[in-house]
Amino acid sequence: MSDKSAEMVEIFSSIQGEGPLVGLRQVFLRFHACNLACIYCDTPGNACPESCAIEATPGRRDFIQAPNPITVERIVALLDRWQGGWPAIHHSISLTGGEPLLQYEILREWLPTLRSRLPIYLETNGMFHHALAGLIDLLDYISMDIKLPSTSGYKELWDAHRQFLDISRRKNVFVKTVISEATEDWEIARTAELIAAVDGNIPLILQPITLQNGGVGISPLRALELQEIAAGFLSQVRVIPQTHRFLGQL
Ligand code: SF4
Repeated sequence: MSDKSAEMVEIFSSIQGEGPLVGLRQVFLRFHACNLACIYCDTPGNACPESCAIEATPGRRDFIQAPNPITVERIVALLDRWQGGWPAIHHSISLTGGEPLLQYEILREWLPTLRSRLPIYLETNGMFHHALAGLIDLLDYISMDIKLPSTSGYKELWDAHRQFLDISRRKNVFVKTVISEATEDWEIARTAELIAAVDGNIPLILQPITLQNGGVGISPLRALELQEIAAGFLSQVRVIPQTHRFLGQL
């Protein structure tokens, strides 16, 4: 096994709350740090935590604090115990953050071992195409963001997203983009065109922004209007909110 260790925020079992695999149970490995600072981020902060919160029993929220960094041996021991005691409850391992691809060197060594236990699902902001190219054969699912200026605050990520999607198409990929009442028609048209230029059958998830009070920041009519724009380019356009937030899940 790899002797590389990673600075992590938390490890726990929960349901996937976003995108087309919504509701499936996953093991979440949350890595610290991100290269972006999106306006709507629900996991802000780049300071490395002194310890990682590790759930002892899957889904029971009985966390213990383990000093960082965390070894892959520790994670594998946890996975094997969970798989032995609760067989078949977990669909896959979600690599989340932050931005997991910042841990490229570590993931290159860890993923063969982790993938021997469960399929690998990457949640990413869709920018580091070089890192993705080095890991693509070790991944099974890719949940890739396209950041819109109206909701993320970033204006010039289109080229990076296109290069990323070009590589992602080799695996089971879908694109997620956060929308709000401020999202303009051209943003969705450009997003859909970008995806269609790679493959018009790649699913696009329009994810209404979650407000502090747990509601969503877009009207029902506007969500449908944006879906209609994207459907002019793509075969699968879905509107799915962050379901884990209103279910009280992590
Ligand atoms: S890419 Fe994700 S983790 Fe990074 S700042 Fe944006 S929302 Fe937060």
